This record gives sequence, structure tokens and C-alpha cells, in this order.
Amino acid sequence: MIQSAIDSQLAQIPRSLYRLGEEVEVKYTKDWSGISGPLPEVVFLPRTEHDVALILAGCNELKHPVVTQGGLTGLSGGASPKSGEWVLSLERMRSIVELDVASSTITVEAGVTLQEIQEAAAEHNLMFPLDMGSRGSCTVGGFTATNAGGTQVIQRGMVRNLVLGLDAVLADGTILSNRNKLLKNNAGYDLKQLFIGTEGTLGVITGATFRLFPTRVARYTALCGMHRFDDVVSLLHLFQKKLPGLRGFELMWESYFQTVASLTGQRDPFPGPFPLYVLCEVEGADEQATRSQFEEALEDAFERNLVQDAILSRNEQERTNLWKIRDGVSELFSTFNPVANFDIGIPIASMAQFALDVEQKLKASFPQCHIFLFGHIGDGNLHLIASTGREEDVHRIEDTVFALTREVSGTITAEHGIGVSKKEWLHYCRSDEEIETMKRLKRSFDPNNILNPGRIFDL
Ligand SMILES: Cc1cc2nc3c(=O)[nH]c(=O)nc-3n(C[C@H](O)[C@H](O)[C@H](O)COP(=O)(O)OP(=O)(O)OC[C@H]3O[C@@H](n4cnc5c(N)ncnc54)[C@H](O)[C@@H]3O)c2cc1C
Repeated sequence: MIQSAIDSQLAQIPRSLYRLGEEVEVKYTKDWSGISGPLPEVVFLPRTEHDVALILAGCNELKHPVVTQGGLTGLSGGASPKSGEWVLSLERMRSIVELDVASSTITVEAGVTLQEIQEAAAEHNLMFPLDMGSRGSCTVGGFTATNAGGTQVIQRGMVRNLVLGLDAVLADGTILSNRNKLLKNNAGYDLKQLFIGTEGTLGVITGATFRLFPTRVARYTALCGMHRFDDVVSLLHLFQKKLPGLRGFELMWESYFQTVASLTGQRDPFPGPFPLYVLCEVEGADEQATRSQFEEALEDAFERNLVQDAILSRNEQERTNLWKIRDGVSELFSTFNPVANFDIGIPIASMAQFALDVEQKLKASFPQCHIFLFGHIGDGNLHLIASTGREEDVHRIEDTVFALTREVSGTITAEHGIGVSKKEWLHYCRSDEEIETMKRLKRSFDPNNILNPGRIFDL
């Protein structure tokens, strides 16, 4: 469409709130999944929720589809524009509105990054217990719309557990503002839940109020070398019983650990390789007591023969170093591109057999396949990256893995969301009635299907 025609269509919207044609940068064409779309004709850049309302009301009147973008670190292609879609980026809405120490809450606009929240909280001896490798770029809007998980879910839950209030704008421009700071509030429907984890299909998040927690000064991480998956589960249960401050329990299979160690230039701290590596983190109010408690629990694990070797960090530097291999996942994407990338959820009782089956099935069909398994095992979330180096194999790999996931009543996505890349398998873990109810909600909130159309499901 020629630019002057678009300008006249958007006459109600100030010109400073959107870019057109040559003003549009390539960065708006794809998210981290690598699924890319065409250069959008229009990119909206609102500064306030009233701007968002004005923009959405205009697009709704024109029945023009819009895709919402945050930090573009999503891994399901949900934020990548499809042909003809305009982009709504929240990147200018970057204010920390209020940090309320008394109620331990922070109220922020949708474009604030996770790291900015963590740092703002830390200045007041508070902490925001969401953490993941994309912290520097992912934003409030994106991590709330995808109900992100991360490495501390076993202690504080997913984003849903951290949101107290939420501001959103509906497709017709209606502003729903709720800056609730109360932990308990049962006054009618809890409307914020409509926007958490619904991947921008029911409304655009413009801000949120999150819970903060007291900073625990003591933090220790241990890396354990282990032989058997059953021992990993026993170790998890032992630590959950003995360590009330357990906040992370990450598992890496040997191929993941050794490959990422070599790609990131990290030394294997143990004399020989292990089939499994567990990274666990504990926090507490007192340095000495937390460390002694952790040492005692580790000794117990050795006595029970669950752990074969272990290293416990002595200071913050060592703790950070121990996380480098787990945090180095992005190296796999650049080295083994293209990859099939999974964030499946598997009942913990089925996980050991699932890992064996998936490896066997993939190797049988794709002998050259590189397979890397790791995950947030404490909450049943298994990550799998598989690559033959051939784009044409990706879909068949996905089919194989999702079919196995279905057999064990798992979920095809535990944290990244469905987006566009997994929607053909949604029925593997949701009933027809559930999917139809989702569609009824969508039709009722967005009758013209302008918000992120074709994400999660097709209407
Ligand atoms: C290195 C790396 C590590 C990661 N680790 C984890 C992890 O441990 N756990 C985890 O859960 N995820 C992880 N992710 C993926 C994760 O989904 C994102 O980092 C984050 O949740 C997305 O935030 P974003 O701002 O980048 O959103 P985007 O990618 O911009 O968007 C994601 C989705 O949210 C929608 N959206 C964005 N903003 C809004 C808004 N304001 N209102 C409504 N909808 C909106 C988009 O349309 C899209 O559907 C990781 C990603 C990377 C690259």
C-alpha cells in the first residue's frame, strides 16, 4: 500500500506514534525463534496506554491485523509479523512507575526488561524471583503474555504467581487498568488472568504490578556429577526436604554439558564425564548457616550414593562460573542451526524412560541427529534441542518428539508458548472442548481477529 494511503487511513493516530515504509527497521521482522516475516508496512511505537488504546481502536475499525512485540526473545514465532500485519512495539514504554517497599511491589510499563526490574529491586534489598538467559532483552509484556518460567520456578512459581495487577488494552481500545497490590483480592473476576499466558491474543499488556521478595544475602550453587536419573529424582526430594531455600534444580545430560562446555570454553571441573549433571542453588538469610545446611545435605546425598562427585561454590564468582554452562544454551543455536527446539513438560515419573525413547527414536530416523537434553527438572520441564543440520528435517523431528510427549500425557510447551510454531500439535495436550472454549473467548474479546491472529490456533 502506498504510504500516503496508509497515512490517511491512520489519520486519527498522531504521526509521531508510527513509522512507515523506509522508516521501518529489519529488527521488527523476527523473534528469537528465527521464524521471520516480511518487513511490516507500519510499526506503531506508543508512549502511553492511551496511545495503545488509540492505535488499537483505529486498527479495529479498519479490521487490520496487528502483532504485538516486546523484546523479541520469544521462541515460538508468536511475535514475528505475518504478511500484511502491522507491528505494535512496546519498546518506548520503559518506565518504572513505582517501587513500593512497604508492600514489596514494583509497578512497571510493558517495555521494561526483566534485568531492569531485577536491578531496581536489588537497590532496595528486594528481589524479583524470575530469571532466565534472556533477562537483558525480554520485557514485561512478553514474559507476562507467555507466562514465562525460568530457573527459579520450584521456589516461587511462574510469572502468573508473581503478578498482582495488570494493565491491558482490548482490541476495541478499552483500557482495563488494575494496579492491585494486594495479595488477597477476591472482588469479582480476576481479569488479569485473561492476559497472562495467552500470548497477546486477547489484549495488549501495557503495564504490571509484581510481587518482590526480601533479598537473601547468602546464595550457594553446587554442581553434582551423577550416574542415574532415579538418583536425580531422589536428590530432588532429599533437597526439597532438607533445604527450604532450594531455588534452582537444573539437570543437564552429558552431551549438553560437554558440548556447551567446549563451545563456551569452560573446563569440565570433574576428572571424568558423568551421564548426568545437576546444578542446584540454595539461598538463605545467613552465609554460614546456609552453607553448613547445604554441605550437610550434600554429605547425606553422598552417603546415600546418589551423587558421585560435587563442587560447592565458595563465593559469588564461583557461583556465577558454575552457571555458565547452563546459561550457555544460545551457543547451541548458533552452532547447530537449524534446530528443532523443545520446551516440553513430562511427568517426572516418565522422564527417564522418555529421554531414552526420544533419543532412540530420533537416532533411528535421523542417524546424524545431534541431541541435547537439559531442563528445569524440579518442575517437570524438559528442554531438547535436536539438529541434523537440515531445515527439511525439523518438522519430522518435531512430529516424533510431540507424539512421544503425547503418549506420556505431557505438554508440548511448558513455558515458551504455542505461538505459530506448535499450533498444529495443540490438540495433543488440549481437548477439543478446551480449544473450542479458547476460541469462544478469542471471538468475544477480539471479534475482528486483529490481535496476533493465527497464534495458538486458527479461528
Ligand atoms: C536465551 C533465551 C533463554 C530463554 N529462557 C527462557 C526460560 O528459561 N523460560 C522461559 O519461559 N522462556 C525463556 N525464553 C523465551 C521467553 O519466552 C522470552 O525470553 C520472554 O518470555 C519473551 O519476552 P519478550 O519481551 O522478548 O517477548 P516477545 O518475543 O517480543 O513476544 C513473545 C510473545 O508475547 C507477545 N507479547 C509481547 N509483548 C506483549 C504485550 N505487551 N502484550 C501482549 N502480548 C505481548 C508477543 O506477541 C508474542 O506472542 C528464553 C529465550 C531466550 C532467547
